[in-house]
Amino acid sequence: MNRSISKMYDEDQELSGQARHPSEYAILKHDNNEIPFVPVDPNLLFFNDKTMQNRYFEILYIGQTTNEISKEFRYNLLSFYIYLTGFMVIALGIVVSLFEDQKISTNQLVFHLSCIFFILFYAYFLLFCILKSLRVVRINRILYMALGVFTYLYMIFGATQVLSTFTEDDKNSGHIPMTAGIVGFTYSYRRILFDSYRHIVLTLIPVLIIYLSINLIYSEILTYCIIGEFAAIALFVITQIIETHVVENRTIQLFYRMEREQDTFSDDETHKPNIENENSYFHSVIELIINKCDFIIKEIKYAASVIIFKDVKNRLKNAQNEMSAIRNKVSKLDYFETFEITSQDIDEDDKEFISQNYLNISPFPNKSSRMTKDTNTEGQKCLFIFNSKLLIQEVVDYISKVGFEWNFNVFYINEKTGRSISVLALYLYKKLNIEEILCCSEQEFFNYFDSLEKVIYMQMYKVNPYHNALHAAEVFTSIHYFINNSELSKSINKLDTICTLIAGFGHDVGHPGLTNRYLIQSRDKIAIQYNDISVLENMHCSTMFTLMSIGNTNFLSHLSDDEWVICRKIILAMVLDTDLSRHFEVFTKFRTRASVMNDLSIEKIDDKILILSMALKCADIGHSAKSPELHQRWTSMVMEEFFNQGDLEKSLGLPVSMYCDRNNTDIPKSQAGFLRNICIPLYEIWCSFLKSQQVDLCLGQLRENYQYWDQNMKSRMFTQVKKLQDESL
Ligand SMILES: [Zn+2]
Repeated sequence: MNRSISKMYDEDQELSGQARHPSEYAILKHDNNEIPFVPVDPNLLFFNDKTMQNRYFEILYIGQTTNEISKEFRYNLLSFYIYLTGFMVIALGIVVSLFEDQKISTNQLVFHLSCIFFILFYAYFLLFCILKSLRVVRINRILYMALGVFTYLYMIFGATQVLSTFTEDDKNSGHIPMTAGIVGFTYSYRRILFDSYRHIVLTLIPVLIIYLSINLIYSEILTYCIIGEFAAIALFVITQIIETHVVENRTIQLFYRMEREQDTFSDDETHKPNIENENSYFHSVIELIINKCDFIIKEIKYAASVIIFKDVKNRLKNAQNEMSAIRNKVSKLDYFETFEITSQDIDEDDKEFISQNYLNISPFPNKSSRMTKDTNTEGQKCLFIFNSKLLIQEVVDYISKVGFEWNFNVFYINEKTGRSISVLALYLYKKLNIEEILCCSEQEFFNYFDSLEKVIYMQMYKVNPYHNALHAAEVFTSIHYFINNSELSKSINKLDTICTLIAGFGHDVGHPGLTNRYLIQSRDKIAIQYNDISVLENMHCSTMFTLMSIGNTNFLSHLSDDEWVICRKIILAMVLDTDLSRHFEVFTKFRTRASVMNDLSIEKIDDKILILSMALKCADIGHSAKSPELHQRWTSMVMEEFFNQGDLEKSLGLPVSMYCDRNNTDIPKSQAGFLRNICIPLYEIWCSFLKSQQVDLCLGQLRENYQYWDQNMKSRMFTQVKKLQDESL
């Protein structure tokens, strides 16, 4: 019987592809009662849980992978039929030869022939049905029990001394070895029932009673020899029943352990992705630790499930609890070490670009101490009265698509109205019912965004090719799209939505068109003011809230103190998290919580902030997922801004930043690297969190844009190589 279980293990092993240590089998087979609480009735050996009982039955009779009858059952059938057919053929031979010698009567011959043919017919018909239909397999125990009972009865009544009483023949006329037949049949009968204790008891006890009573009644001479035979048969049946109980009990325990073990494994499998296989090259130390913790917990669980010693089991349980506690503590840590680019797969130029912009690595001290132009933008004041009547109908119609159209074209709005932020803000004031939520006037609300746009962007930084009002408007439309097309629209409140509006429109306010790295290297005023820490982002936040206190722009003044504090907290966190040098910190923190731990709850303020920060981060690089036309337009704008910085660096004698040299930057290559290493991993985790088909479309477009740059890069490289080859020829 143990073979059946070890076979199951073999199959399991093939499936999982994991080799099992030989000692595991030793432990498994060693078992008797080491699982104290197998949920089985100890007398009937029947699982209390019906599905478990069915599963036990299925695993014995039906193969796990093929949905056919199991190999073990096939072997049992084979041995059962060999025995049954062999015995019946021998019995037939003896009966026929006895009849020829005229030792038995025609009546006896007819009885033997009809019984033998009926048994063989029934047995083979049953075999045919079993091979044809799994339904019959599922009720085979009852059918074989009927066959068993009938065969036993034939063997009892077919014995010459019993049968001759009915046919009034000579009782010592001939001997057919029925008692030996009963003993042999019992063994193959047990096999076919997989030592089912209940079925063996239900068959053998009545058989024993009938055998004893029939022989007592019809044997005329009660010799010691016959008494001895009775006793031997009775002992045989009793030992068979006891043995069946022991074997089935053991099988059930092994089966139950195997089930538990598989549960443990399937839990683990669905639990977490293996970080190392993920399509990402950057992992925080925390993610790696959590991943290792998961691995160790899984190993301990496995060890605990196969070990037999209670004290060792308890120690393993303690170790597992300790490990889980560490895992939970680590996931809550807010400390992220410097990231490493672990993949060999990333181009050296891309590594340099990422190190300069996306990793918090201090820039080299600059030999030149020259200051650049003053980029402090605070304190400007200008009011512009916007006349909404100037809006033409087609623009109004187009604006109504904001938040629903991923490829919303802010360039179009700008071309038609000369504005973007203030036009959108005015539309949203009505659409989001801001008057009621903030209790502010339309004028206050408009004044703020008008100032944001006119003062900061147009007067001071209208020359910025990329970080201008259009970028801010574009970023907000993308956040609005994420919110409208996912569960976020239901789970965040209206004030939160307004926070995303303020943060989206204001997140790059006063941007000088230069990177933090440049500002720090060149010892710019802003870098000095913010101590080199998230220089631009601190400046954006400060400018936004300063602007709110100038003139008739304080549209948040009607909020309660508590509301104001929360709004400010959300806006500051969102904007500060756009610092590219903290990209991997925010990204992996989100990934740890959203994917590895899967415990983000938007009800909690800190989690909500993390989600909204992620929304702004994705929107900030959203152009990479826009239609090819829009994406390429934004790309040329951002590259121009990079090149302007490169020009400035050259003029100051500073080392030119990666991809900032207009003379030798390979744009398709830089874009392919940016989309592949930064954008796609970010959108993948964002999409898997939002679970929205509409947002998944963005990732699809992003991948297409990546293909575009990649193909472009490769075909151009091919042309260059060909050119070189041609030249060398
Ligand atoms: Zn931005």
